[in-house]
Amino acid sequence: MTATQKNIILLPNNHLRERSKRVGLIDPQVIKLAEDMQAATLDWEASRSHEVGVALAAIQLDKAQRVIVIRNSLDDKNDKSFNVLINPVVTKCEGEIEKDFEGCLSVPDIYGKVPRYTKVRVKAINLEGHEFRLKAEGFLARILQHEIDHTNGIMFVDHIKDSPKAFFELLASGKLEPLDYEKDVRNSSILW
Ligand code: ZN
Repeated sequence: MTATQKNIILLPNNHLRERSKRVGLIDPQVIKLAEDMQAATLDWEASRSHEVGVALAAIQLDKAQRVIVIRNSLDDKNDKSFNVLINPVVTKCEGEIEKDFEGCLSVPDIYGKVPRYTKVRVKAINLEGHEFRLKAEGFLARILQHEIDHTNGIMFVDHIKDSPKAFFELLASGKLEPLDYEKDVRNSSILW
């Protein structure tokens, strides 16, 4: 059976804040996991009117393994192929720190203005077991930082926990509206 969006776990599930384990052997279970992650992301995207499913970490399917998948094309929804990164590590952060909007499949309808490095270098292993390196900037650099955070049990909201102006809600119209920090964020039983 293939995973669907129903398999994606959501906050406040505390598994999302656990560190995932390194993958040792790339066995059939890991290959199936990577396939499930892609299928669940695409299934989620099909149910959303205003969002693109650009990436997922294994822990979001409740599998605490250091695997992430990232869409090969970040602006062409018709390209449904993904890059699979096993045991990904940020080897260098460069450039500026920039705040921009970020969402997460495990935090429905909440967006945040999250500070991230504009450039990163990442090292990972592919499904064939070969190590590769990549240099990324802009949105891809942001996604890599977001997904590698997931493998360490860090959610994007954790970076902006004390920033009253950083939280937004995605409305049915597709517009982002600032959230009332005192009322909806600070003592939220979902986010923390
Ligand atoms: Zn996420």
